[in-house]
Amino acid sequence: MTNTKVKVTDLKKSFGDNEVLKSINVEIAEGEVVCIIGPSGSGKSTFLRCLNGLEEISGGHVAIDNVDITNPKTNINKVREEIGMVFQHFNLFPHLTVAQNITLAPIELNRMTKEEAKTKAAELLEMVGLSEKIDVFPNSLSGGQKQRVAIARALAMNPDIMLFDEPTSALDPEMVGEVLEVMKRLAREGMTMVVVTHEMGFAREVGDRVIFMDGGYIVEESTPEEIFQNAQHPRTQDFLNKVL
Ligand code: ADP
Ligand code: MG
Repeated sequence: MTNTKVKVTDLKKSFGDNEVLKSINVEIAEGEVVCIIGPSGSGKSTFLRCLNGLEEISGGHVAIDNVDITNPKTNINKVREEIGMVFQHFNLFPHLTVAQNITLAPIELNRMTKEEAKTKAAELLEMVGLSEKIDVFPNSLSGGQKQRVAIARALAMNPDIMLFDEPTSALDPEMVGEVLEVMKRLAREGMTMVVVTHEMGFAREVGDRVIFMDGGYIVEESTPEEIFQNAQHPRTQDFLNKVL
């Protein structure tokens, strides 16, 4: 039996009268890698943001480890500490060194002493292949290096779910591979991952499941083989014809 890490039930999200998520239902198991694909504007980022409480949801429920984050009694900050997020544009703090970027949250939230946090940062930087960059500032890094630091920073709180929102979309093509390698390693190590991506190769190779979103709905979800070789829905077929 695997544990359910994320359970989304009839999730709805509107911005004003724009209903962006119409009724999303999905369960994600511990250790599962779920890739989300779909056209621009289909609600993929909004969906990810609903999973860690960055958006106030308009209806339905989101449960993380059986804790309903839509319940006003839930301490959302506590839940959020278990969820790491990586964005398209890295969002590193430019005035802090790589080490300071990584150790900020664990120290500020009293999860670790400064010493422990620095040790952890060194371990994480080794994991992402950037040990020698520990004391530099982000502006001296390439895009691929910045994104690897952002992944290390997200891992510093020991999250047990990682959300990625198009982590390679802002990168020059030659830097995509190094970031995907780090993500593959995380997947192999059993991290539960939800990855919004245009990297169909990654989705095919690493995804346990691929979800195709369009118009605020999950139109189709299946194994990568099924989605990429035998998509059932015309909208999925149409999308894949355009991107593959
Ligand atoms: P995707 O990530 O699939 O491209 P998004 O979730 O970013 O889609 O956006 C889906 C829709 O929600 C778009 O129409 C977008 O304009 C709208 N939207 C997203 N965030 C906001 C916001 N903060 N305020 C108003 N509208 C938003
Ligand atoms: Mg998006």
